[in-house]
Amino acid sequence: MFTPFNLAAYAATDAQSRGRRHAEPSATTRGEFQRDRDRIIHSGAFRRLEYKTQVFVNHEGDLFRTRLTHSLEVAQIGRSIARVLGLNEDLVEAISLAHDLGHTPFGHAGQDALNACMKDYGGFEHNLQSLRVVDKLEQRYAEFDGLNLCFETREGILKHCSLENARQLGDVGERFLHKRQPTLEAQVANLADEIAYNNHDVDDGLRSGLITLTQLEQVELFASHLAQVREHYPQLSERRTIHETVRRMINTLVVDLIAHSQAAIRAAGVAHPDEVRAAPQLIGFSPALAAQNNALKQFLRKHLYKHYRVVRMTTKAARVVTELFDAFLATPALLPEEHQPHPQSDAPRVIADYIAGMTDRYAMREYRRLFTIEDVLI
Ligand code: MG
Repeated sequence: MFTPFNLAAYAATDAQSRGRRHAEPSATTRGEFQRDRDRIIHSGAFRRLEYKTQVFVNHEGDLFRTRLTHSLEVAQIGRSIARVLGLNEDLVEAISLAHDLGHTPFGHAGQDALNACMKDYGGFEHNLQSLRVVDKLEQRYAEFDGLNLCFETREGILKHCSLENARQLGDVGERFLHKRQPTLEAQVANLADEIAYNNHDVDDGLRSGLITLTQLEQVELFASHLAQVREHYPQLSERRTIHETVRRMINTLVVDLIAHSQAAIRAAGVAHPDEVRAAPQLIGFSPALAAQNNALKQFLRKHLYKHYRVVRMTTKAARVVTELFDAFLATPALLPEEHQPHPQSDAPRVIADYIAGMTDRYAMREYRRLFTIEDVLI
């Protein structure tokens, strides 16, 4: 049994893992969560993250984050936090790299559109879809469907879930029914996600010109760090000033999160992963920084995610997803052979899986292939 060094008593370990759905001999040279991380990196869904986006559509510019670079940033932030707290870095990394695997093309607009399409057929939730990807849709192993990941990795991937779905999921859904926490590693990955996207959306938002420095000066978290940078480096170019400000914001959030979580873990006196599950959420920001972080989120929602240019793009994206879904549902014979539903009653879910797996550019190409008369070459 492989055990990483310097793990705290409350960290997830191979020895305490609830294991895999299909029993497998353990690897001789790697830990179980390390193996999960490796399986995720080798999956097709992971490679497709390169051409999926969160806010901007993939073709809009090479400098914007994609879901792949976002996931790498989450893993970096998550591992840094985990190491200081004595948590299992491999597990944090595995959850971080897999957390967005179930996202549709075109970010949240795509997900909302697909959820609306699926409303009479069980709905569509991206967290649940990420789990579905690693449990079922990846087909690369001889012995099982999916990647056969450890329970703790799967549980971390399923960040949120409706109670109705939780009831159907068995062990991995139980914590939502009993209002229990996942591992500290899952809690870290969740907040690392938040730190990563808030900060890179500031950076991408400024680069795109959709938000301005003047607007961001209304946001305390940004303004306080910008003031520091301007004071120390008054001659610095604007681009470098922005990078230096974002870098400092990430650092402040990470340092605060570590200190606050360390104190919460100590106060709770948890000495085993099972005690973590029964405790309240222990990983978090101090109240002061949580408030500042929320203010930043609200700013981004109002000024970036609802910017008219983003709304135009997301409306168009939603139309692509909806029209693809409707066309496939009306005529399942349009689906490529390997995506044909068997039996036909499975068609809505099979179509949702197919569309969710598309990259932004693939969805646009598929849309053109189906709806453009000039495009006779299919
Ligand atoms: Mg994310």
